[in-house]
Amino acid sequence: MMVIHFNKKKLYGIGAFMMMLLGTLCLWKEEVILTNASISYDTIIIDAGHGKPDGGAVSSNGVEEESLNLAIALKLRNALESQGYQVIMTRETSENIADEEQKISLREMKASDLENRVKIANENKADFMISIHMNQFPKSNSWGWQTFYSRNSIQGKKLAQLIQKKIGKYIARENKRTALPIDGIKIVDQTNLPVIIVECGFLSNPEDLQLLQTEEYQHQLVNGIIEAIDDYYEELENGTILYSEG
Ligand SMILES: [Zn+2]
Repeated sequence: MMVIHFNKKKLYGIGAFMMMLLGTLCLWKEEVILTNASISYDTIIIDAGHGKPDGGAVSSNGVEEESLNLAIALKLRNALESQGYQVIMTRETSENIADEEQKISLREMKASDLENRVKIANENKADFMISIHMNQFPKSNSWGWQTFYSRNSIQGKKLAQLIQKKIGKYIARENKRTALPIDGIKIVDQTNLPVIIVECGFLSNPEDLQLLQTEEYQHQLVNGIIEAIDDYYEELENGTILYSEG
């Protein structure tokens, strides 16, 4: 049996050593916590345009844009979350998100609804916002999806171009539209992140209208958007987006 005798000086020494060890462990623990905090989980805001009582565009047979926007937005959310992305939705029900006290007139309600969408975009540290809409045109021959992006946003432009292209990979219809810059609308002008508006198709075109209501077409749109998002993050990591002008 070994008995170890410590004199006071040695005890102080051991005490100091233990304190140092504890300190190191604490620092190490803190570092681990900091490292976890610094992992950037890719966060995306999905905005389903409009919401009752604002139906948005309405087809000649009464199909409202807001319900198609929501159906596609929810499919997009589910698919992104299953891939590990963090998703924030501006709305998840058929109702819009105007403040209750602002639901005085349609005009005030719409203004409050848009302000709240801008707030969600600006108050969450998301990488970008995808806003889902449906188009409408006086002539019924216009058809097809088209993306728009915040002017002056290289990232927004890149992602809008990728979405425009990738949807075409899943939908076998020759669409010659290209991604275009946009401004003059609140969710683009007043937000501090890239906003990509996906106009999924024209409610004024009979073929688009029929397809947009099918689960299959909605999934094809979503698949294109997701592949574009995956590619976008990959390019962002490689640093190629910063140099991209195309
Ligand atoms: Zn719309």
